[in-house]
Amino acid sequence: MIVGITYHEKFSLYDLGLNHPFRGDRFAKARDFLLKQGLNRLPNVKFIKPDMAKWSDIITVHTSKYVDLIFKLAESNKSYDFETPVSASILEGLMYIIGGSISSGRSIYEGSVDRAVNLGGGFHHAGRDFGGGFCIFNDIAILAETLRRNYNAEKILILDFDVHFGDGTSAIFYSDPKVLYISIHQDPKTIFPGTGFIEQIGEGEGEGYNVNIPLPPRTGEDAYLLALKSILIPLSEEFKPDIIIANGGSDAHFADHLGSLGLTVNGFFEVSKILSRCSNRICNGRLILLLGSGYNLTVLPYCWYALIKGILSDGELDIKDPYPPPENPRRNIEKVKDIIVQIKSLLRDYWGSI
Ligand SMILES: [Zn+2]
Repeated sequence: MIVGITYHEKFSLYDLGLNHPFRGDRFAKARDFLLKQGLNRLPNVKFIKPDMAKWSDIITVHTSKYVDLIFKLAESNKSYDFETPVSASILEGLMYIIGGSISSGRSIYEGSVDRAVNLGGGFHHAGRDFGGGFCIFNDIAILAETLRRNYNAEKILILDFDVHFGDGTSAIFYSDPKVLYISIHQDPKTIFPGTGFIEQIGEGEGEGYNVNIPLPPRTGEDAYLLALKSILIPLSEEFKPDIIIANGGSDAHFADHLGSLGLTVNGFFEVSKILSRCSNRICNGRLILLLGSGYNLTVLPYCWYALIKGILSDGELDIKDPYPPPENPRRNIEKVKDIIVQIKSLLRDYWGSI
């Protein structure tokens, strides 16, 4: 099982400003940590330097009107909204990151690796004609479209484990039954973007193919993993995707500065192992991780490393949290069991397996 890790020094140009939570140094910090842990010396790990994405890649998903608007903002260094600045240099970094996501898929379908990780991406708040929440273009959707157009991938499962709901990705595929979007996130009543409720299940032909798992703040790791397994495993086995794309980063960690869920570093390892086993059973191990988020830079490299280790091996994790973990990993478990029951009863009309 060869794992490709996609990274380019220019990812760091995606730097949203001095006092912004999304700085460009995260990518190199993560890469350096992986090297320190010796990932580059493993025979089954291959570092890949991606090319920039092209404008023709961007317009497979985004409207030309929206792309023109982003160009204009970049020319004058203006922001899309109060927390999403745009400049020529940010766009350059972004095009390399999107190139990394595309290249992860290409490497799998062209056979040079079995699964892949992009050390950037997961810009899930960008929709076809809108951005926001630190996101300008949606690399997850661009990757999915590329796999459909160029490699005949028919069905794609997107698992979004970022602490925030991926409103952009969800909107792009909301009526599409060939993309199953499952998002596990913090209860949207308590966090950006304020949507991502259980009742949002897709529309038209896509009804039943948008699955939200909102968890109360401070949900412990055992409760989180129970929710993930209870929904992801049966649905993925019934859907039988050609590939699984997972996006997130470290913002579901208990010490994150923007999120309030309770995953430990080992929890990220578990999430990744669950994904890995699903992809082995269902789609010949084809799995892509797009890692971008995380707003506590001390834990970010640990979590990203744990996620990569989880798709490399099924054993134990060889690092520990830099902070003492929360005392009760079962926190909110009864509430979470209720949420699982609610989700299952809503989806039972569309899925026989739950
Ligand atoms: Zn997030």
